[in-house]
Amino acid sequence: MEIKGFIENSLLEWEGRLACVVFVAGCNLRCRYCHAGYLLEGRMIETVPTEQVLDYLRRQHGWIDGLVVTGGEPTLQGQDLLDFITQVRSLGVDVMVETNGTRPDWVDRLIGEKWIQAISMDLKAPLTGERYRPVTGRDVDVADLRRSVRRIIDSGIEHEFRITVVPGLIGRDELAAMAPELEGACRVALQNFQPSHCLDPALRSVEPYMPEEMDELGRILDPVARKVVVRGRERALAVRGEG
Ligand code: SF4
Repeated sequence: MEIKGFIENSLLEWEGRLACVVFVAGCNLRCRYCHAGYLLEGRMIETVPTEQVLDYLRRQHGWIDGLVVTGGEPTLQGQDLLDFITQVRSLGVDVMVETNGTRPDWVDRLIGEKWIQAISMDLKAPLTGERYRPVTGRDVDVADLRRSVRRIIDSGIEHEFRITVVPGLIGRDELAAMAPELEGACRVALQNFQPSHCLDPALRSVEPYMPEEMDELGRILDPVARKVVVRGRERALAVRGEG
């Protein structure tokens, strides 16, 4: 598997768990606010051997609660992802996969065949082609996204939907339009976008929302999800290895 980053311990990526996090190369989207530009092609970064991650998990047996596979888009790793999960599970470690939801057959497989114990999906914009593409930079079949969302909500496994809010791009109106899609979700996390290192240079001068504005935005989703959490700067920094 093309692992391009590895955080040994994180309390931020899997709520309530001390997890290690691996970042895989490659993504089928090009979100304007993406901080993982270094992962999208991934060719210039040295690959972390999977054995290094597995060895770490062996040495930390009993301490690490779980492993999170994020990216990039982990499902693009195909069979390599399943092989890696098998190895991690054989060490008694639970696995969460983070996905952009564009590949619902993979979402269905990971859940239906019980490969994973938790899943997280990013929702980028209201679910119409005209609203999605300006955020993700690629055409997306919104029917696929809707399938992934419903499969996850109906799955019965721990799950979270993440929405990055960006002034002028994703705010109050967009969240109101997205809310009905998330009816019945376990947890929705609102993430404040971070201007530095954004894929789209035009966003680097945009001021992120203030904490009180984030709280207000979170309340829009309160009626549809069992839990809504608001996340700020710390996660973005940790993901980049700066925090
Ligand atoms: S934000 Fe996620 S889905 Fe979007 S381009 Fe970056 S890695 Fe891909």
